[in-house]
Amino acid sequence: MTVAGDPIQIVVVGGGIGGLAAANALLHRGMDVHVYEQAPELGEIGAGVLITPNSLRLLDRFGIGDAIAAVGATVGEGSRYYREDGATVAPILTVDSSGWNGMFGVHRADLVGVLADALPADRVHTGHRAVSFAQDERTAVVGFDNGAEVRADAVIAADGIHSVLQRYVVEPSAPVDSGSVAYRGLVPAERVPWWPKGVSQLWMGEQRHFLVYPVRRGTLINYVGFVPSHQQTVESWTAEGDVQTLRAEFATWDSPVPRLLAEVEKTHWWGLYDRDPLATWTRGRLTLLGDAAHPMLPHLGQGANQSIEDAVALSVFLADATAEDVPEALRHYEDLRRGRTTEVQLGARANGRRYDSHFQDLAERDAEIAGSVRFRSWLYDYDAEAAALEALAVR
Ligand SMILES: Cc1cc2nc3c(=O)[nH]c(=O)nc-3n(C[C@H](O)[C@H](O)[C@H](O)COP(=O)(O)OP(=O)(O)OC[C@H]3O[C@@H](n4cnc5c(N)ncnc54)[C@H](O)[C@@H]3O)c2cc1C
Repeated sequence: MTVAGDPIQIVVVGGGIGGLAAANALLHRGMDVHVYEQAPELGEIGAGVLITPNSLRLLDRFGIGDAIAAVGATVGEGSRYYREDGATVAPILTVDSSGWNGMFGVHRADLVGVLADALPADRVHTGHRAVSFAQDERTAVVGFDNGAEVRADAVIAADGIHSVLQRYVVEPSAPVDSGSVAYRGLVPAERVPWWPKGVSQLWMGEQRHFLVYPVRRGTLINYVGFVPSHQQTVESWTAEGDVQTLRAEFATWDSPVPRLLAEVEKTHWWGLYDRDPLATWTRGRLTLLGDAAHPMLPHLGQGANQSIEDAVALSVFLADATAEDVPEALRHYEDLRRGRTTEVQLGARANGRRYDSHFQDLAERDAEIAGSVRFRSWLYDYDAEAAALEALAVR
């Protein structure tokens, strides 16, 4: 238990994007934080994630915006939505309302690397899989599979979509099969020199869509092909998919799509499951963050970005809290974040229906895509730190 005047002790479970962003944000505000990650090493698995202006402006304030720009690939003007035959539907918004382009395609491993490198090495403890949690009015204890136990004033469960700690807060929402599976992977840019640089492109057809953007300074082209699932699929980041099946799904589409797929040697597939928003994220000294709090379909590209927003908002509410105040501070964090992330979760569902052309009249769908610029501006203009400071001021 922390003595009055000492900084509160915070344990973050999960060293993914949300957990590492939280550790950065909390340290930035002078707090005492340690991260416990189950994997023996941090994050080599995964492919591309899009960093959007709403999170880049926050990362910039910890001084790591430049590092992300250095490992990422700018996504900017010329980004477009197309129908499957190549007819242009609308531009993809890549700027906030001030015109600032804060969008980068980043390999997940590079993003994890940048976030981890910004932390003192003794703050991240790999090889620690959380298996238990207990708390009383004064303290919380997390138990790990290696027998270790740590005590803290606040525990942040950033342990992802299959969160172990979530059940200590709330009855988990059951996974709902979205009916789609995503094939994803990377193609070296040198194999497709004709591919346009610095843009994101998304083709939409019946029950399918195909998304492409660059990562790793443009040296790799990240693709994701969303197709109907014909069998039970796993919610996994590592399952290998069949390249021939993937090619067959898009064989008749606008020619860049099959031409890119002709260069694919290896693909991973990932069953897409949805969940209803949770009733609550916080119990006492334990709160949820990122996918553990609000797993979402990837159709708005906001999984990583919302976890970074959570991280920064959380750090604002905990900054001046004493050990005694922690439960209240965590409730204020949840109060601020739950409404916005629920809208994003539901917005991602709606966007999936648009991208997969679940419309009688595609002109109506195209109009909704063109009009989604308003929702995107709402997403990209948001400043989670300013919103948290404002909420704190009126408390
Ligand atoms: C291996 C992997 C690959 C991914 N690849 C992509 C991708 O290519 N594209 C994309 O858009 N999104 C990807 N994601 C998802 C994306 O990172 C998240 O949706 C988003 O960043 C939200 O981050 P998060 O920190 O909440 O969750 P995650 O990034 O999933 O991080 C959760 C972390 O918690 C750790 N963990 C889980 N359980 C425990 C436990 N009991 N004890 C300790 N640690 C635990 C996990 O190992 C992981 O490091 C991937 C996630 C993972 C885990």
